[in-house]
Amino acid sequence: MKISFILTIFVFLNLCVLSSEIILNIFIVLVIFNFLFTTVLEHLNDKNWKDEIPNDLKDFYDSKSYLKAKNYKIERGRLSSLSSLISFMFTLAMLYFLGFGLLSDFSVSFSESVIVQSSIFFFIIYLFNFILGIPFSYYSTFVIEEKYGFNKTDLKTFILDKIKGLLISCIIIIGLISLALFIIESFSSGFWLWLWLGLSLIMILLNMFYADLIVPIFNKLTPLENGDLRTKIEAYSKKVGYSLKNIFVIDGSKRSSKANAFFSGLGPRKTIALYDTLIEKHSDEELVSVLAHEVGHYKKKHVLLSMLITICQLGIMCYLFEMCISFDIIANSLGSSSMNFHIGIIAFSFLYSPVGLIIGILMNILSRKNEFEADEYAKLTYDGNALSLALKKLSVDSLSNLYPHPLYVFVHYSHPPLIKRLNALNKKTPQ
Ligand SMILES: [Zn+2]
Repeated sequence: MKISFILTIFVFLNLCVLSSEIILNIFIVLVIFNFLFTTVLEHLNDKNWKDEIPNDLKDFYDSKSYLKAKNYKIERGRLSSLSSLISFMFTLAMLYFLGFGLLSDFSVSFSESVIVQSSIFFFIIYLFNFILGIPFSYYSTFVIEEKYGFNKTDLKTFILDKIKGLLISCIIIIGLISLALFIIESFSSGFWLWLWLGLSLIMILLNMFYADLIVPIFNKLTPLENGDLRTKIEAYSKKVGYSLKNIFVIDGSKRSSKANAFFSGLGPRKTIALYDTLIEKHSDEELVSVLAHEVGHYKKKHVLLSMLITICQLGIMCYLFEMCISFDIIANSLGSSSMNFHIGIIAFSFLYSPVGLIIGILMNILSRKNEFEADEYAKLTYDGNALSLALKKLSVDSLSNLYPHPLYVFVHYSHPPLIKRLNALNKKTPQ
């Protein structure tokens, strides 16, 4: 990790004296490093499973379903290793045979318009990945998830999801390309500041309207009907002074038996959606405690903070992207005769990867701390035992890994492992 970070700095400082071959080698080293790092972590994590069931969960697992959880993780792990191996080989081949440059020349030959050129370039890469991903996604849904009893999707929903996903991605990709190119052409040098503002604005809007615009494309949201659960939720939100008006039930059971809930929106546009599968499996008290945890995130300003951090990260990215796009030699290393927007994005994605890894780890550290705080909030304002019970059930139902490797947790986990959360909830809090 350190070595590749130093390499990145080296690239930015010494570009004028570097040859395109050296830059290409740096890209290759970064891609190999990323692949090895991920593979080693996955391997450590797999090896870390223990045979005995943790004490806290003895009542929830029999040895048969525990074994099932273990096998489920192993099978999913194998599939994802195969998928990342293929994408690793593909990326290496594209770098080695200067495929990105060839594809760029091909896209440029279609039109004078840079927006069309870049759109074609990214569409081809996206379509290739999309088609390559279909067998994996099919196998994951209809073989693995099916075998372990999670899958509720039929082929029609699966295909419709894929088509909708493809269309939405196209709209978003073309929209973002047009916006970025418009900004770059309007401001030339120093464009990163305006690009940053534009992207931040889009991110905030997407966050505000996610539940109103994106979710309904895939799922049906119905307001939670009057009854015990609604009364209890309203009583709780009145007590803590938090307006929980838009409470929806989402038809998650259409696709999977896994349970979930999400919050979306900012300020008065806040929406909570509870999966029907969550409501089905949990008592009212457990559901309110899960909501109390989410309310904790708002009350402790976690939502606002993580949005601010993401905006800062976007700023760093835009700044580094402008630096990257100003060196023609980087484009040469990928096989393109001159720098353009799409080759710049590809080069940037390689060079940024070690920086992104470090920022990701820092954000996960913060996120895990916030999860403990939100749990604590739910315990103080509602019921810690109900939350413990809900967390155990959620973990057992989704066959989650009970013994993740500490290094894997450190790098990838945005939530603390279940056992740590239960221990923290069990601790006596000084009143
Ligand atoms: Zn949380």
